[in-house]
Order: sequence, then structure tokens, then C-alpha cells
Amino acid sequence: MSKFWSEVTKHTEPYVPGEQPQSTSIIKLNTNENPYPPSPKVLKAIKQLVNGDLRLYPSPTAADLKLTAAKYFGVNEKQVFVGNGSDEVLAFSFLGFFNPGEEIFFPDITYSFYPVYANLYGLNYREVPLAEDFTIPVEQFFNSPGGVIFPNPNAPTGLALSLDQVEQILQHNREKVVIVDEAYIDFGGESATALIPKYENLLVIQTLSKSRSLAGMRIGLALGNEQLIEGLERIKNSFNSYTLDRLALVAGKAAIEDVNYFNETREKIINTRERVAKELKDLSFHVLESKTNFLFIRHGTVPSQLIYEKLKEQGIYIRYFNKNRIDQFVRVTIGTDEEMDTFIKAIKQIIGK
Ligand code: PMP
Repeated sequence: MSKFWSEVTKHTEPYVPGEQPQSTSIIKLNTNENPYPPSPKVLKAIKQLVNGDLRLYPSPTAADLKLTAAKYFGVNEKQVFVGNGSDEVLAFSFLGFFNPGEEIFFPDITYSFYPVYANLYGLNYREVPLAEDFTIPVEQFFNSPGGVIFPNPNAPTGLALSLDQVEQILQHNREKVVIVDEAYIDFGGESATALIPKYENLLVIQTLSKSRSLAGMRIGLALGNEQLIEGLERIKNSFNSYTLDRLALVAGKAAIEDVNYFNETREKIINTRERVAKELKDLSFHVLESKTNFLFIRHGTVPSQLIYEKLKEQGIYIRYFNKNRIDQFVRVTIGTDEEMDTFIKAIKQIIGK
């Protein structure tokens, strides 16, 4: 180990992503991707571009994509930031809006990238414990000294706060930035974008990875007050003025424009989720009420780690978190109906039903 190793690791405890096996024969229910392909209009836009202008730099302002997103969300284009997946938007937001020495609040069971960014930027943070029933205890997020970030719906629990509850958090944090990470909002939650005109400290982050089937493209969005968005632009331009490539710019635009396809596929996923949740309950699983494209479940007697391992042996990948309190659960992404039938069949075998 070189003497510089402690310098290298001082601020970095990297996020460990879910497994990404590359074989196509497995059933992949472990990283909340959409089981349906992107809209045919996205594929058409990409094909056109591949034959066109890839030799040219992309637009540094992403103006077309921003305008499309602004129209969709009912804001103006200066209230939209786009980044390389919402992970990058989150990274820039932590850097821009939270300050060392001012404690920020986020839930203790949540997206595990938050402590990674906080450590990287030397921020103080309080991991606010979830309630006994895994809901976010709203009052515990009041009056944070440095700002607040939480996913709505939360991950990996899948539970959502109502818009009213989100607004309570905003009302009690007027001085610092409140970030609502809405990666899974399109599967049944109430978006805080409606509150943007009322709260200049609200930043809503969304992604095209889940409900628009574009995880492979890496497109994330932030929506909020013009000055917050300008702050993010300055940070982005301090690293790389061309955040999104040309393919992502046209794909993102086409995906947001094809509202019919978006509604069709997300409704299919919601219906499958509700059916599978019921089947699992009938098999003695405890199933948290999901507003996402995944289910967080625990069996009455069979340990979660065993379920995870047995499924993996059969080529079905789900997510197991070896972490206090949630190690009794597994998280299962909603796949196609066919995939979920195979999953349920395998589960029945494992639990002996
Ligand atoms: N936020 C949450 C809560 C997530 O679960 C994820 C997906 N892992 C992300 C953000 C990041 O998504 P992406 O970078 O693909 O936009």
C-alpha cells in the first residue's frame, strides 16, 4: 500500500451498484430498470442521428431538450437542468447547495448514494431514522441547519409521502435547499413540481431511466427556481460544458414527447405490480405499499438472503441489502408479466408452496 492510500480513501467510500450481469438469458429484477423498450419514436430519432451529425459537438445548452421538458412539466426552460443521469444531477446539487459545517438531513434507509456524496464533499449529515413502519417521519426533517434531501417515493422501501407531507417539510425549511429525488414518481406518487412556483428553495430531480426506459442513455433532470438551475449550470460548466451527448439529447426529447407510450408502459407496470403484490401476500409475504416499479418484501419464515441466493441460482436476480433493519427484506423490480410469472413460480418452490 503506498503512503498516499490514506489520502486517496479519505473522502471516498464509493457506492456499490447492483449486479449488472450481461447475459441475456437471466431475468433481471435487481436494479429497477423498465422491462419495456424505449418508445419507438426514441429509436427512430436515434437512427436518424446516427446517420447524421455525430461528428459535431452536441449543444452545450441542451436547449431543445430543456424546452420539451419545460413544456411537459409546465415550467419555463430556465427552470430545467439536464445531466448525465440523475446521479450526476444529484452530485452537482450536493456540491452546489449544501455546505460543509451545516448539517443536512436525509433518511437513514434511503438511496445509498447520498452518504457517498456527503462524504466526498466533506458535508455533515444526519441520517434520520425511518419510523417503525418504514415511513419517513416528516417532523424529524423540520428546521435542518444545512438542507434536506429525500427520495419520494423512498427507495428501497417504495413508500411515498403525500404532496401535503412534502409541503410540510418545505414550510419548515425556508432557508435551505430542499431536494426531492423523484426517480420513481411516475409509478403512483404525487410530484412536487406543482410546488415549484411557491418555494424558491425546492429542487425536484427526475430521471428518464425508469418510467421512460432509458437507463442506458443516462438522462436526468432538475426542475426548480431559475437561480437554483443557474447554479447547477455553473457547476456543470466548471467540469464539462457538454454534459449530454447528441444521442441522449434527441432520445430524451423523443421520450418526453411520446406521452401515450409513456402512459401505456407505466400503467402496465403498475397493474403488474398490484397483481404480483397480491400474489405475494397470499404466499405469506409482508409487502410494503409500493408507489414505484419495485416491491420491498419479506417472507414470514424464509430468510431473505436465502430467497435471493436461491433465485440467483435459477438465473433470477433481485436485490438483497446486507444492512441493518432491511436485511430481512428483498427488493424486486417489476418486470414483464411473463417474467413475474416465472419469478412467482420460483418463489413458490423456494418457500415450499
Ligand atoms: N435516485 C434514486 C432514488 C434511485 O434509486 C436512482 C437509481 N439507482 C437514481 C436516483 C439514479 O438514477 P439515474 O442516475 O439512472 O438517473
